[in-house]
Amino acid sequence: MMKVKSASFFKLLLLQCLTVLTFAAQDDSFDFFYFVQQWPASYCDTKRSCCYPTTGKPAEDFSIHGLWPNRDDGSWPSNCNVEDSSFNVFEVLDLITRMQQDWPSFSCPSSNGVRLWTHEWKKHGTCSRLNQHQYFQTVLDFKEKANLLHVLEHAGIFPGGFYSVEFIKDAIKACVGYTPFIECNVDQARNHQLYQVYLCVDKFASNFIECPVFPHGRCGGSPIEFPSFSSSRADS
Ligand code: AMP
Repeated sequence: MMKVKSASFFKLLLLQCLTVLTFAAQDDSFDFFYFVQQWPASYCDTKRSCCYPTTGKPAEDFSIHGLWPNRDDGSWPSNCNVEDSSFNVFEVLDLITRMQQDWPSFSCPSSNGVRLWTHEWKKHGTCSRLNQHQYFQTVLDFKEKANLLHVLEHAGIFPGGFYSVEFIKDAIKACVGYTPFIECNVDQARNHQLYQVYLCVDKFASNFIECPVFPHGRCGGSPIEFPSFSSSRADS
């Protein structure tokens, strides 16, 4: 009986040691950030559809998806602080109006954004070495620095049209100074369309940089659609 008890005690001890070692070994290093903006019309016109935020349908503009720490080898850290990763809205009260405008959630059912911000903070923000206020403020400021809709319209690229990926990339590089990565998705009519634009930011979250590595994948069609948001529909 004593033998069985001590065997299970040692098993428990071993398990605890392994858990501690796993946490200690978790690699939260990173080399740069992806700053990802999304074209809401392309999120909404897919098979999955979307729901407008509880604050109403936003104006036609790119929205923020997130600021994601990444490594030069293409891997990335995530969920870096499982113990204290809760999103506290009171820490960003002064930013809420901007967050609602520039970082809305389009998932269903309609939401006020808190679920998306919580997800982004937990998964990516906790690895950023920024505190919560710095993280959200930094992201909002980068959106102002790279006003993509303005940049594209300046180059003659308007919602509702079809354009080559190279033309879109060149237009962004000409204004922002750095080459973006363009991610496409597919609408219900199987058109390949502009979905997300990735720009890279140095690891201090200070400046745009050339991307050390791009995400995998490329847009299937060329030209691709830049769908209009004004004609897009959402579920309630
Ligand atoms: P991430 O884990 O940061 O790569 O984000 C991916 C998750 O964010 C997925 O669950 C997506 O469905 C969700 N997502 C992406 N864009 C939006 C959006 N505009 N509104 C709400 N959820 C989104």
